[in-house]
Amino acid sequence: MPGDITETPDLQGAYPRLSDAQIAALTGQGGRRSTQPGETLFGEGERDCDFYVVLAGHVASVEGRGTHEERIISVHGRGRFLGELSLLTGEGSFYTALALDAGEVLAVPVARLRELIARDPAFGDLVLRAYLLRRSILIGLGVGLRVVGSRYSPDTRRVRDFAARNRIPVRWLDLETDPTAEAMLAQFGVRPDDTPIVIVYGRLLRNPGNAELAAAIGLPAPSAQQAGSDMLVVGAGPAGLSAAVYAASEGMQVIALDGVATGGQAGTSSRIENYLGFPSGISGAELADRAVLQAEKFGARFAVPAEATAIAQESGCYRVDLTDGTSLTSTSVVIATGARYRRLDVPRLHHFEKASVYYAASQAEALMCRGDPVAIVGGGNSAGQAAIFLSAHAARITLIVREHDLGENMSRYLVDQVTRLPNVEVMVDSEVRELHGDQALDAITVVSSPTGTRRVLPARALFVFIGAVPCTGWLGGLVDLDDHGFVRTGAGALAAAGGPEGTGPLPLETNRPGVFAVGDVRSGSAKRVATAVGEGAMAIRLAFERTRPA
Ligand SMILES: Cc1cc2nc3c(=O)[nH]c(=O)nc-3n(C[C@H](O)[C@H](O)[C@H](O)COP(=O)(O)OP(=O)(O)OC[C@H]3O[C@@H](n4cnc5c(N)ncnc54)[C@H](O)[C@@H]3O)c2cc1C
Repeated sequence: MPGDITETPDLQGAYPRLSDAQIAALTGQGGRRSTQPGETLFGEGERDCDFYVVLAGHVASVEGRGTHEERIISVHGRGRFLGELSLLTGEGSFYTALALDAGEVLAVPVARLRELIARDPAFGDLVLRAYLLRRSILIGLGVGLRVVGSRYSPDTRRVRDFAARNRIPVRWLDLETDPTAEAMLAQFGVRPDDTPIVIVYGRLLRNPGNAELAAAIGLPAPSAQQAGSDMLVVGAGPAGLSAAVYAASEGMQVIALDGVATGGQAGTSSRIENYLGFPSGISGAELADRAVLQAEKFGARFAVPAEATAIAQESGCYRVDLTDGTSLTSTSVVIATGARYRRLDVPRLHHFEKASVYYAASQAEALMCRGDPVAIVGGGNSAGQAAIFLSAHAARITLIVREHDLGENMSRYLVDQVTRLPNVEVMVDSEVRELHGDQALDAITVVSSPTGTRRVLPARALFVFIGAVPCTGWLGGLVDLDDHGFVRTGAGALAAAGGPEGTGPLPLETNRPGVFAVGDVRSGSAKRVATAVGEGAMAIRLAFERTRPA
């Protein structure tokens, strides 16, 4: 072994060492083999590789092997295992595993690894935690896809958003500011007009659509899910993921689809503090990744991106059509397509959304802005409730309302409370036009609509409560919706449409037997992760009840 090889330290459990007992247990599942210096164990883009444990010598994870960008990400010695989340998700590897010296490895087929993870909770948790942390490290280092495009290009933004929502590591080279971007374009013979380009495992994609990108990365395509199912879950946010886990664990054939990424809105939350069992909070991305692996462990299948465009009832089944022309049929359907919170149409919103813009005002958000000046946008009850709640935490609150009268959309009891609060200023007839600050928000510009007067107000946080739009356009007229477009369930659906024949709809069931709606898309839902998860699980119990022979 060359003397200057140093193992990467174990960063908070990202690179743990297996015990001799664990290695002994794995030995029966795979084969030992010797390695030579410079030998590739698996390469970038390779899928379904073996799970390798280093028995002797050292193996490095190397990005851009053989290119001028080659860099070592980590080095592992005896007892360490290789790989990261992609080994379990079916994506290609984002780096090469390279033997640095003569040594020995244990190679276990990935199917065996899955069995072991399911069978041995301690081992499973060790590997899963390490793989999730390794993915975060890759995302932080920007190891993985290369995106070259201008910050002003909507397609660049789309590609980056798609990768981020799917927790795919990306390095973005901004054509406007990054000198290496030009060099990369020259290397691939691409003109700036033809950007964005994406380099996936060394392959060039010119302004790929999300489906093309997903296929190149190895995300599960809808066309692979043609086999029938007895539970189709549309939308894979917390509600849909919960339905998928519980349906699969009860032995149902489950397919879960999502138009963008698993995790839904919760997947964009950096820390969910009010979810049962996670006293120090959990990131939405980790919650989603864990749920997907859990659902897959029980046999659920996923399709991403797979956007439902229509649903119809035919010969005792429901058929769901997708944007790529695929159709899937099932006897039961769970609608879990959530709601899209309306975003403010103001420049730099996306930049500040990571740190200073909130769409909920719970204890967690209150802690973030304790003692700060904050702004709330919206004139409905949720904005009023947020103002009352946050007034006990924030130094000063400006409530910015587009309407002329605060009582136009807000209940009187809330108007009375809000206007009595000493640290709340209400600005009617007003709109937010600009956001100021570097990494975090410092101030906002508010314009009075009738006079055009501009005021710059200090604000460390911006709370946006301008309504949510349910993602129900794809349902056509199949199920009953309330006046705001959310799906009616239970007795509400019965009242609206007479309900399913025979018995009335079960709780969470729409007016179509066997079609359930859960989470934010459901009329009257609580708009919280925990309730979405609870409803997803309960819908499965009710689906069994619906299909049970009389
Ligand atoms: C920034 C942010 C932070 C939050 N923080 C918290 C928090 O700390 N605690 C808390 O309790 N709640 C929080 N919430 C609210 C919480 O995230 C939602 O209540 C929860 O995600 C709702 O889950 P859902 O599965 O019903 O819907 P969603 O999470 O909205 O998921 C719906 C999914 O359906 C998919 N979809 C939509 N249409 C289609 C279609 N036609 N075909 C296929 N797929 C489709 C979407 O892509 C999406 O992935 C937060 C919300 C946001 C935006």
